[in-house]
Amino acid sequence: MPFSISKTFDSVLSRLIAARIPSPRLEARLLLAEVLQLAENQLLPSGAELTQEQCHLLENMLSLRLRHYPLCKILGRKGFYKYDFIVDENVLSPRPDTEILVETAVDIASRKNLRTMVDFGTGSGCILLSVLGDVPEMAGIGVDISAAALNVAARNAGNLGLSGRAGFINAGWFDEDIAVCLGQKFDLMVSNPPYIPSADIAGLAEEVRAHDPLLALDGGQDGLRDYRRLAEIAPLILKPGAYILLEAGIGQARDIASVFEDKGFVLEHIRNDLNSIPRCVILHN
Ligand code: GLN
Repeated sequence: MPFSISKTFDSVLSRLIAARIPSPRLEARLLLAEVLQLAENQLLPSGAELTQEQCHLLENMLSLRLRHYPLCKILGRKGFYKYDFIVDENVLSPRPDTEILVETAVDIASRKNLRTMVDFGTGSGCILLSVLGDVPEMAGIGVDISAAALNVAARNAGNLGLSGRAGFINAGWFDEDIAVCLGQKFDLMVSNPPYIPSADIAGLAEEVRAHDPLLALDGGQDGLRDYRRLAEIAPLILKPGAYILLEAGIGQARDIASVFEDKGFVLEHIRNDLNSIPRCVILHN
């Protein structure tokens, strides 16, 4: 039986509210816009009706969302910074918290005429590709231990017309030969590495715990394991005058800075995200 769009909206909204999904009104609108193939910011034609097929599609997507499957992974895409990225279960969902790192990288790269960058743990490629998208003089490499993630990143590079300036290397930074494997030195190193202390993973929201790859989340006992390794690699792969930009978990920024200061890098600044959390650690050599 076909349903009017306004009645369907009300029913989707009340089911999202009952399941305690955050921003239920927005999500109801986005789910309906998806089945109606409307742009996210287009008004819903509330007087019209959904076809049987659209009702089925909506019910399938809604049942996933009610089980706390993340909306972006149901839709298969996520807006981040200025661009849209393909996402799936193999990559961390890009977060607004990370946009400050991109903004900072674009600013520094433009002011200091940086030309080459490396992104450790590139995942969907959202950091690397956002920076390359805004700084046409730059080229860069995304490194990830997950071949499936790199597949997503390479598709994103293609969609954004950046394949010519973005390369990808399937390697782990704990690999002994990682510096050799990279085969060049860079002006800028960025990373949003896994930084959740292992014991905290079980307490994360279902959307994160069950649908972001564990590899992208688990930062070892104190959450700093990967920063320590990146600080060992950095001197081997950076040019003189190079910059390092790192995302920090809550309460980690000062400790991360110390890890890099111990290797001779100079802390320039720690920038807060939009929630006033110290989020982006900026260092140089
Ligand atoms: N670089 C990607 C991002 O910031 C993935 C990070 C990760 O998987 N830890 O979204």
